[in-house]
Amino acid sequence: MIVLKSPQEIKAMRKAGQVVARVLAKLGEMIRPGITTGALDRAAEDLLREWGAVPAFKGYRPEHARTPFPASICTSVDNQVVHGIPGPRVLQEGQIVSIDVGAIVDGFCGDAARTFPVGEISPEAARLLVVTEEALEKGIERARVGNRLSDISHAIQQWVEAHGFSVVRELVGHGIGRQMHEPPPVPNAGPPGRGPRLKPGMVLAIEPMVNAGAYGVKTKADGWTVVTEDGSLSAHFEHTVAITADGPQILTSLS
Ligand code: MG
Repeated sequence: MIVLKSPQEIKAMRKAGQVVARVLAKLGEMIRPGITTGALDRAAEDLLREWGAVPAFKGYRPEHARTPFPASICTSVDNQVVHGIPGPRVLQEGQIVSIDVGAIVDGFCGDAARTFPVGEISPEAARLLVVTEEALEKGIERARVGNRLSDISHAIQQWVEAHGFSVVRELVGHGIGRQMHEPPPVPNAGPPGRGPRLKPGMVLAIEPMVNAGAYGVKTKADGWTVVTEDGSLSAHFEHTVAITADGPQILTSLS
């Protein structure tokens, strides 16, 4: 069942979203060649706690996972799509790194992700980042009362494929509220006009994952890190978005 949020609850969710946005902005300032993904994780956890939030991902264990997620953020480098585990890995000039941050404030969750360049990156990698962020914007534009859920999915897929990239099928966005993952699943591909009709009070984490090569992915032996099957680069942009009578409201953008 999709849990609709009242205007007061959406306001509370914006608080969590603001913390996520501020952490992503701070990490963006820190990302450069030579820094480890573990250092980014430690900084994120300190900031989350300083700003009154609980890291939503730390200790998170969905049914399919053998072990709980061990860190506060996900750091996914180059061909890693999502759920990369921070650690001693040193970021190198020319890489891209996707950072996913989840925060719980006063019992409500916020979730957002963004792929950052590490120093100077190739024109192809830069184009992948731009197209993925634009695909998220295209999806958010469709998050309007009266549309159907898959109108979001279709807009994302169309934008990505028109630019020669591919959308990951196996992983999807999700409803969000008191739980990090609530119904409905929010696919990033598919025909329009399907799924539930969008209503005021629905809050969705919309999160296209876009591969430079084919859309296939696989999970590494650590049980978490998802990589592209063909080794191509992958990018990930995500916002928590409330559907309101006045249109989509991004809860995880800096205000
Ligand atoms: Mg998410």
